[in-house]
Amino acid sequence: MERGGKPAVDAAGDDRSTTVSSLVADDAKDRYYRDLYTTAPDFKDLARLDPDFAAITKGRDIDFNNPASVMQLTKTLLRLDFNLSIDLPDNRLCPPVPNRHNYILWLKDLLDTSTYDQPRRGVVGLDIGTGSSCIYPLLGCAQRPWSFIATDIDPQNLEWSRKNVALNNFQHRIKVVARRPEDSLLPLDDLNLNSIDFCMTNPPFTRSKIEMIVQGGEAGFVDRILEESLVLRERVQWYTAMFGFLASAIRLVDKLRALGVDNYAVTEFIQGTKTRRWAVAWSFQTMRPVQDAARGVKTALSKNILPAVTEADVVRLSLPEGIGKMAEDLSSAVSKLELISWQWDKEKLEGIGRAPGIVWNRAWRRRRKREQEGTTDKMADDPTVFGFKIRIHVARDGLRIGCRWLEGHDAAAFESFQGFLKTAAQSAHRSG
Ligand code: SAH
Repeated sequence: MERGGKPAVDAAGDDRSTTVSSLVADDAKDRYYRDLYTTAPDFKDLARLDPDFAAITKGRDIDFNNPASVMQLTKTLLRLDFNLSIDLPDNRLCPPVPNRHNYILWLKDLLDTSTYDQPRRGVVGLDIGTGSSCIYPLLGCAQRPWSFIATDIDPQNLEWSRKNVALNNFQHRIKVVARRPEDSLLPLDDLNLNSIDFCMTNPPFTRSKIEMIVQGGEAGFVDRILEESLVLRERVQWYTAMFGFLASAIRLVDKLRALGVDNYAVTEFIQGTKTRRWAVAWSFQTMRPVQDAARGVKTALSKNILPAVTEADVVRLSLPEGIGKMAEDLSSAVSKLELISWQWDKEKLEGIGRAPGIVWNRAWRRRRKREQEGTTDKMADDPTVFGFKIRIHVARDGLRIGCRWLEGHDAAAFESFQGFLKTAAQSAHRSG
């Protein structure tokens, strides 16, 4: 799909069927959205496609110092790329579309990869401080069948946000909620919501280093979210926040680590050559996101704040004579473990399993056996479920056995599982 040849907007809500063709269409849509701003927009193109944009740029380059031009650029991109209309007051922040879109793309990855349900349905999100544009909920609803609660404390912002929701006919999917400064930031109890899938925020902040570390700065605002998250815990799967300063992101990760919150994600949003933002997500639930979403920071400066890896190649092997036979042997070696579940897909050469602990570990099995024979005290109930995915990647020059950590809090379990898998793959390879 190209700009202007936009995908149909999904106003249908959650009731899409999971036919193969709808999955293919979803894939194409997701690819379209992911690639949108990988290169900078071509302003000549925009002028050709949108008369309003042409009228303001008059054949010249866009003037970023002119608020009217900047606002038109935002409106034009929303219209051409997302089929969204917005209206904004002159005295409020005009959100740059590519940066806001980056946050939504990251949320999609986080949510899609931290669930066993494919595709994931009925997602509900909370946008804390939605502004006058309501831009995050609009961008989210334009590309996925999500629903949102959008909060703000500013009466004018609330009024404009409601207008923008109505302008796009999203009243049944986006609920704009007025809050007071002294209210909680996550109004689950006030709204009678047992749980939601994520919260997001582009926190209010002032561009001063001092503001950053005091109450009212972005770090202070997100600290409040962190405190509320320690009470709400699993009721929100992903708590997320964007930052204008790397120092705020580092500070939050330090706090998470000190609190023992191991399931978190860090990313950076880079737009153009100078604008950079950071975002952090954390979860008290057990599902782990893909590595690209969890460790989305490329700059060396901030690499030491990244969470544990969730993906690894355990071994490379030459092509065996019968890949089918080898795959079957590998699957059967895994299925001999004492698993909660194991499903192997012969076509895709991949399988998903859940283990009630480190079941491949000899000491663990001996203990379990003695326990069953009644010769030892019962093991303390071990809630450490370990979920994993195994995949045989086939290339012309050989095989690669990849492994992904899907569920659990024990990074050491993922490491030792890789050892088990390597041995199992090598032995299946010999017999294959
Ligand atoms: N999400 C929009 C606006 C971000 S600006 C965007 O990305 O463009 C931050 C917003 O948070 C402002 O609209 C401000 O009014 C709002 N805000 C400040 N304190 C708040 C609070 N306690 N609860 C909800 N919103 C708040």
